[in-house]
Amino acid sequence: MRMTGLFFNTLRETPADAETVSHQLLVRAGYVRKLTSGIYTYLPLMLRVIKKISGIIREEMDAAGAQELLMPILQPEELWRETGRWEVYGKELMRIEDRHGRMGALGPTHEEIITALVRDEIKSYRQLPINLYQIQDKFRDEIRPRFGLLRGREFLMKDAYSFDADEAGLEENYQKMARAYTNIFNRCGLETRMVRSDSGAIGGSVSHEFMVLTGTQSGENDVLYCDSCDYAANSNRAESRMPPADTNGKFPEAKEVDTPGIKSIEDLAGFFGIEQSAICKSLIYIADKKPVMALIRGDRAIEETKLKNALGADDIRIAGDAEIRECTGLEPGFLGPAGVNIKIVGDESIKELENFVTGINKADKHLSGAGWNREIELPETIADIRLAQPGDICPECPGKLEITRGIEVGNIFKLGTKYSEKMKANFTDENGREKPFIMGCYGIGVSRTAAAAIERYHDKDGILWPMAIAPYHAVVVPVNVSDELQMSTAEKIYNDLLDSGIETVIDDRDERPGVKFKDADLIGFPIRITVGKTLAEGMVEVKSRVGGEVLKVPLEQAAARVRELKESKNV
Ligand code: ATP
Ligand code: MG
Repeated sequence: MRMTGLFFNTLRETPADAETVSHQLLVRAGYVRKLTSGIYTYLPLMLRVIKKISGIIREEMDAAGAQELLMPILQPEELWRETGRWEVYGKELMRIEDRHGRMGALGPTHEEIITALVRDEIKSYRQLPINLYQIQDKFRDEIRPRFGLLRGREFLMKDAYSFDADEAGLEENYQKMARAYTNIFNRCGLETRMVRSDSGAIGGSVSHEFMVLTGTQSGENDVLYCDSCDYAANSNRAESRMPPADTNGKFPEAKEVDTPGIKSIEDLAGFFGIEQSAICKSLIYIADKKPVMALIRGDRAIEETKLKNALGADDIRIAGDAEIRECTGLEPGFLGPAGVNIKIVGDESIKELENFVTGINKADKHLSGAGWNREIELPETIADIRLAQPGDICPECPGKLEITRGIEVGNIFKLGTKYSEKMKANFTDENGREKPFIMGCYGIGVSRTAAAAIERYHDKDGILWPMAIAPYHAVVVPVNVSDELQMSTAEKIYNDLLDSGIETVIDDRDERPGVKFKDADLIGFPIRITVGKTLAEGMVEVKSRVGGEVLKVPLEQAAARVRELKESKNV
């Protein structure tokens, strides 16, 4: 490809709405352009990256025995009604009405469509197992589309669905997919960690996410992992044991105390001279439109996804002060479980509280020295609704949990019969009995993977693509296009490289060398061949984008050197 003909534009300025590095670099280096919120055009450079990632995915999925198909993006309401997700999926589902008033949606995921298909096509256990996948644009009206390709409203996903006759078959498919995913991300040059996760709106019992760990850098997820064993989980799912803490307020008796204007846990601990861990904290949430009270030890925080699961709710959010007064009649800042007539869920951490401090739903008052089933009833529902923290003890060994940020690039779920039962998708087993299919589903964010690679690999000058997913392998830069010898030499190297299968660009633009080098770094061509002054000595310069020094290479060895470099960087 000739740079004079390449459809791209680099920008010197960082776009104002781009918060993350990948978003900034993708726009600045001419990979994407925004059409509207969360929706992007992939320019030619981007499409090449997307095709490379998709190519690796296809090879590994096929090798794992899956078959590619392509389902429609537009999905009819009826199928979503069969599973109940027409309501449950909520506002993220992009709904559409056709000219006949029939409702449908732009697919955010395809469980309903694939289950309906397999229900019609597969009748017998003899046709199982089967694993079907597609690579296609998905639509989700995300509350906060942001970070460019990391969280779009239209994005490219690989989604696969497995159908088995029994649990053992599902387990086998699940493990195959876990291995395929590890291979896919490795081949993309990305190290990932498989972490346990919450199953969310897709449902099912067991699920894992593949995370690109970004340390303290960007990444929307927190991952807790054990420093001693291989336990790792998304923070919305991580379990932990708490290190010892002082959970006894040591008050000799229970007493109502005036606490004028003292609302925060920190102020309360100071006022009473106790540890925050001897306070029972009460919070009001709105779960599926109804208020609920959640209780937790004062020094710990609620994990909303865990709370949502404990309640079996579809939707949850913290209530505002005005809302608390309005729906419960209770006084924010002085909340407590005593005499409350809404649902209460307590975290396991409250059980060990003794002689503790709690609100009693009276303004400017607290109760000190409270005890469970003495002054206050221990709530009936006790569950793990606590956010695990670094420093907590691993749930599986005596090790300590640590925390890192991560970007979820893939996700695997054991769905079981969640969809097949609701949709009456059955097969006949070897004894002639009708049984629902046992399903699994497996997603990869293709466009998000590209962005995650940039989050992971960049420097101040631009992108450091892993070789396997770079749009091109090399760029040849003639320093001065009006120098005939430089130009003809550059053309020769360019053609030699193309002939030997190296995907190469020649920067034949009549620009200052500084501009060309800056653009090459920004776009992130992994190898640069510079044809300039050293040509007088019969040499050209070969440089690796990643930490490479400039190598002077005799002209006739240039193409061979580039091929070697490319091979050495291929994973
Ligand atoms: P998240 O928790 O980030 O919203 P999810 O659990 O909703 O992700 P899945 O439904 O499992 O995601 O989708 C499969 C994969 O698709 C994810 O692992 C992720 O890589 C990708 N993905 C999901 N939502 C988006 C989005 N809005 N933009 C880009 N990629 C996405
Ligand atoms: Mg999501």
